[in-house]
Amino acid sequence: MSPVKIDKMGDWRRTHYSADIGPELDGQEVLVFGWVQEIRDLGGLRFLILQDKTGQLQITIHRHKVASEVVEKAESLQKQYSIGVKGTVKKMGKAPRGAEIVPNEMRIFSVSQQPLPLDITGRTKAEIDVRLDARVLDLRREENQAIFKVQHAALEAARAFLSKRGYIEVFTPRIIVSATEGGSALFPVAYFTREAFLAQSPQLYKEQLILDFEQVFEIGPFFRAEESHTRRHLSEFISVDIEQAFANAEDVMKVLEELIHNVCKAVAANCERELELLGHEIVVPEVPFKRLTYSKVLEELEAEKVHVPWGEDIPTAAYRVLGKLHPYYYFITDWPTKAKAFYIKPKDDNPELSEGFDLMWHWIELSSGGARIHSKELLMKRLSEQGLSTESFKTHLQAFDYGMPPHAGWGLGLARLLMVLTGVKNIREVVLFPRDQFRLTP
Ligand code: ATP
Ligand code: MG
Repeated sequence: MSPVKIDKMGDWRRTHYSADIGPELDGQEVLVFGWVQEIRDLGGLRFLILQDKTGQLQITIHRHKVASEVVEKAESLQKQYSIGVKGTVKKMGKAPRGAEIVPNEMRIFSVSQQPLPLDITGRTKAEIDVRLDARVLDLRREENQAIFKVQHAALEAARAFLSKRGYIEVFTPRIIVSATEGGSALFPVAYFTREAFLAQSPQLYKEQLILDFEQVFEIGPFFRAEESHTRRHLSEFISVDIEQAFANAEDVMKVLEELIHNVCKAVAANCERELELLGHEIVVPEVPFKRLTYSKVLEELEAEKVHVPWGEDIPTAAYRVLGKLHPYYYFITDWPTKAKAFYIKPKDDNPELSEGFDLMWHWIELSSGGARIHSKELLMKRLSEQGLSTESFKTHLQAFDYGMPPHAGWGLGLARLLMVLTGVKNIREVVLFPRDQFRLTP
């Protein structure tokens, strides 16, 4: 076979997306761009399924009715070739959109390797690692694109909601000199002649900023050297964070549940097609969400014969049991102070307990937050109780000399929320290019 001739785009410009094509355009000339998704031959007919960002479209080539140049080009096509088609819309009940395109001219812009490493129709299932190795090809599938269209709608709704509530979007440094809060490991960075780290959270900076802006939010990537290989942890993840001055835990819990309510409502309303592709339905949760204290959770677990010693973190196996009892959104409040980060405020009436909370969905943690300590003295005491050096938090502590008000906030894992919104069970599916202990490419 002679090599495929590559055409220039030249002055060709798209007149319609596939989603715009319908029987009402019968007889009209259109110009469409996209990729060949499927090719089917039936006697003197060749059917192409063309895919663009809005969906798919049928192009029908009658071998004996169209110009030989078009037939020749159509015969040379393979899956994933990127092409342009100028043609006439023809009403056709049996075609996917009730219409097909009969080409008058065709341009081939790019060819593809054959065979492709994945079946782009998704009919032949591939292992997740095979799919992620060819991620941009994997994302040709409409179901996969749907996840990121849901993400876009969710972020749009979240930003609109927070802006309306008076929060200003900020960006804090990703390159930092010391640990935010101990706990999970940091990634070191060679920073000129010094060692620095990738930020694991915006915590300390967002707290400092409320001194100036009172209400801030940040949406951005953070990094944790997570060694546990789970379906809900990655080494790089996007966090949606807020921090607010003159607020307590309950105040920011209200903001969080209302944000979730609003995001669910927006996605349900604006992503009908995407949710259908994903086979997922969103039930918009009513507020307020259930609030369970940590002690109550331990009691409920005890009744299920799961023992968690008071003061300890709740292990995943126990969360799975709890998730069965509460198969929805709920908060866990009143955590033991010693189970939470150093900056979480102990309760005024009982310092053993804190104003820290988690937002759960079934057994998965979506968000952690709380009221923060705003007294420098107490903060220093908590740092040393947790074995952290006050020296390495010097520049952070300095902000507490400038009139730090009472404040509270939370951090919400975007990918975890997206798992809930799309019904997808592995976090790697809801991140374009996931990073975990074993994956650093593509
Ligand atoms: P987990 O207990 O599930 O490991 P965490 O308590 O360590 O989470 P936080 O420090 O409370 O996490 O971070 C706030 C939110 O950020 C979490 O509730 C979660 O939604 C998200 N998050 C934290 N670590 C990761 C990660 N490695 N991958 C994806 N999302 C994460
Ligand atoms: Mg947490």
